[in-house]
Amino acid sequence: MFRRVSRLLLSFVMLMAGAVVGVGATAGAAHADSCYTWNRTLSQGSSGSDVTQLQIRVAGWVTSGERLSYDGQYGARTAAAVKKFQAAYGLAADGVAGSATFSKIYALQDADCTPVHFTYAELNKCNSDWSGGAVSAATAKANALKTMWKLEAMRHALGDVPLTISSGFRSRACNSAVGGSSTSRHLYGDAADLTGSPSFCRLAQQARTHGFSEILGPGYPDHNDHTHVALDPSPYWSAPNCGI
Ligand SMILES: [Zn+2]
Repeated sequence: MFRRVSRLLLSFVMLMAGAVVGVGATAGAAHADSCYTWNRTLSQGSSGSDVTQLQIRVAGWVTSGERLSYDGQYGARTAAAVKKFQAAYGLAADGVAGSATFSKIYALQDADCTPVHFTYAELNKCNSDWSGGAVSAATAKANALKTMWKLEAMRHALGDVPLTISSGFRSRACNSAVGGSSTSRHLYGDAADLTGSPSFCRLAQQARTHGFSEILGPGYPDHNDHTHVALDPSPYWSAPNCGI
């Protein structure tokens, strides 16, 4: 009871503070997202770091086997991915990233830039600082972010079903402890093991159109109890029990 009252009081105080701050604030000011804000419309021919930021968010919206480059160049493949993203979220699918597209992305991302349905903690149950893998901690964490955006796309395409991640980034020590391969993509931070529902085969099949170059599932040794997805530079899919 006390907690509820104090919370109410707190929201009232915040409301009042907001009202005071609101005086003199510019109405209709451009959206400032706490993660990243785009300041221009992007379309084919655009280039720059804002294009790369966009590519990270739409890389899960590709065709089977395709992997979008994070190269900062808004080419035909980026336009096609933006179109798929727009269509998936009920926006006008013109392949041009303007305010409607950015607003949807803002709604889909948290302040730490992770997509709303995934967290860094879910992608790293090994240690707190992403160290000890096959790449630098910063690279491992950045790779995990890219994987999360692909999973967000896959989750939406599956009908907004929650996806359960049993393992993501692993340091060499964590990887050895679970008997992972010495060349495992988990050491790079871009791998995720999916459990729960939908079925492992459904997950493996769906992953093909969301930018994962490595998919291992039922029928592949040691993968009957989860589906593994990752971004391996050497593409390899194997889930024989699922027709993959
Ligand atoms: Zn795995």
